Amino acid sequence: MKIHEYQASELFKKSGLPVVDGQVTSEVDEAVSFAQSIGYPVVLKSQVLVGGRGKAGGIKVVKSEEELREKYQDLKNLTIKGYPVRKILVVKAIDIQKEFYLAAIVDTAQDDIVLIASSEGGVEIEETAKTNPDAIKKYYLQGQKSLDPARFPSFIQGVFDTPELQAQGTKVFEGLLKTFFDNDCSLAEINPLVIDGTGTIYAADAKINLDDNALMRHEGLEDLRDMDYENADELEAKKHNLSFVKLDGNVGCIVNGAGLAMATMDIVKLSGGNPANFLDVGGSSNPEKVLNAIKIILRSPEVKAILINIFGGITRCDDIANGILEAKKQIDLPVPLVIRLTGTNEKEAKDILTAAGVETFSTMREAVNKVVELARG
Ligand code: GDP
Ligand code: MN
Repeated sequence: MKIHEYQASELFKKSGLPVVDGQVTSEVDEAVSFAQSIGYPVVLKSQVLVGGRGKAGGIKVVKSEEELREKYQDLKNLTIKGYPVRKILVVKAIDIQKEFYLAAIVDTAQDDIVLIASSEGGVEIEETAKTNPDAIKKYYLQGQKSLDPARFPSFIQGVFDTPELQAQGTKVFEGLLKTFFDNDCSLAEINPLVIDGTGTIYAADAKINLDDNALMRHEGLEDLRDMDYENADELEAKKHNLSFVKLDGNVGCIVNGAGLAMATMDIVKLSGGNPANFLDVGGSSNPEKVLNAIKIILRSPEVKAILINIFGGITRCDDIANGILEAKKQIDLPVPLVIRLTGTNEKEAKDILTAAGVETFSTMREAVNKVVELARG
């Protein structure tokens, strides 16, 4: 889960990181009164959960109330990578002398957590990674939760050039690691970390990605979720206890079991089709679930056909069959259903469906070929 800069900044502050005092606002008058209390110049920062706000014109330094009012409105009218700007963080402007990049990231390839730093940082970090990879320094935690006094100094000396900055930089990494472990982050990034004219270091931006599977361990983190960025279909599915992931194809998939659901998407793709979703209706059989699943899939107008692929174990095929008939009764299906049922109570299910004039398939291959053909139109 991604959180906004103003939220990440709060978590940074709790870990003792040198964040810049700020206030998140949604009305220009709030911004004006906060700016008055800290003094101009101030920076207006659009709060959107996408990177590169600076380059997209989402960050403005303003020197007066008049300028603030004008730029605030400009930002409010802005859409960054498809997301409207609803909140604006106001912070005191820093007289930036130099920018650095700092991050703690889960490195899945190395099975470790890596600290990354660069003195060629700032917003051009992706560019630096390509053109000057030696300027990006890495330090692997090697399973430790703190900085190893034997290995860490040579890393930090490669990033900051004076002992004074190295000491400040070490403190910042300690704070970053505390944030990382205290909240089960998958990423905690400061880009840029800046030095001002007095040689003081500040975290001028704050980015955190939280591990979704660990949210339940931290009271309050779930509340940071911004519903603007959640897929409406996925939220609806969650309400009905369905494990659903929206994809961009046109073949709706209703499957029981996560493994079979993955395999079904693979075979749809292999047969020249494109799955519209991942959906696991779960192990227990319940006609209601099939009905809800069909309704959620039909929320996407791109869907041209729906495949129901059931391998009955605990799930009883006859329950699924009843769910299908119930759905047909309740909704006027705008797209064809292709049904493959096998396993527990397969015969009963087929009898139910055949009696209602609904065709069924026994093998996955036949059913997938059929649904892909129908989706092609
Ligand atoms: P991002 O583009 O989404 O990563 O947003 P950042 O918060 O990193 O801001 C982008 C750029 O705006 C920074 O790299 C800075 O150059 C500039 N910026 C941000 N805060 C300040 C500030 O307090 N003072 C000045 N002068 N520039 C700032
Ligand atoms: Mn940034």
